[in-house]
Amino acid sequence: MLRRLLGAINRPCLLCDQSQSEPCGLCALCQKDLPWLARGCPRCAMPWPDHKGLYNCFNQLPRFNQCQAAFAYDFPIKQLILTFKDHGNLAAGHALTLCLAQRIVRDATPSVIPDLLIPVPSSWRKRRQRGYNPAALIAKDLARVLNRPWTPKFLKTRPTQQDRKHQSRQQRLNDVTNHFYLTRTRAPCHIAIIDDVVTSMATANHVAERLQQAGFHNISLWALARSLPPGANNRPDTIDD
Ligand SMILES: [Zn+2]
Ligand SMILES: [Zn+2]
Repeated sequence: MLRRLLGAINRPCLLCDQSQSEPCGLCALCQKDLPWLARGCPRCAMPWPDHKGLYNCFNQLPRFNQCQAAFAYDFPIKQLILTFKDHGNLAAGHALTLCLAQRIVRDATPSVIPDLLIPVPSSWRKRRQRGYNPAALIAKDLARVLNRPWTPKFLKTRPTQQDRKHQSRQQRLNDVTNHFYLTRTRAPCHIAIIDDVVTSMATANHVAERLQQAGFHNISLWALARSLPPGANNRPDTIDD
């Protein structure tokens, strides 16, 4: 056991492959250099300097009540998430999940940590291709760190013929309309929807809508990263502040 523990401590950093990593798998310097998402709107997680004009969520409020993401979906986070999602680099997903957990613990009091974590399901085809649902691995890791229950069985997807990767944004918005359904209902509680990246928010909105229809009205969205509009001003906001 000691050898396993020492092995974990002595692993080289996932990013620079040189410095000794911290328990999350990244060294302190690399962690500091990551594009941490600046503090922003609690509802949509858009950094404050950009939370105006087109990007003001008050024009169209999301269906979920809170949103938190650890990073801007930018270099090298984008690359790490892609290797996690499409190339089986589970260590990268684990590292970023621990970073997200750090942010959640920093910003939330224990009483507002959700009662249940549910991953956005991936399609049957994607699950077969990858052998896993990235959002479910994130939810499982977060649940362990935050000591909260999670379940991959709460939400399911209906089979879809189309490959969403090759669809236009409008097609994707239309396609999620009937995509998700709830397999069960429970007494109302605070639920966190877990996803890898928040982009258009269409998927999360649709999941939140389904949850609202089932009587859940306290819904958070947690993701490893949030994509920002071109030219967004993600102020430096390091892990130390
Ligand atoms: Zn490093
Ligand atoms: Zn907002």
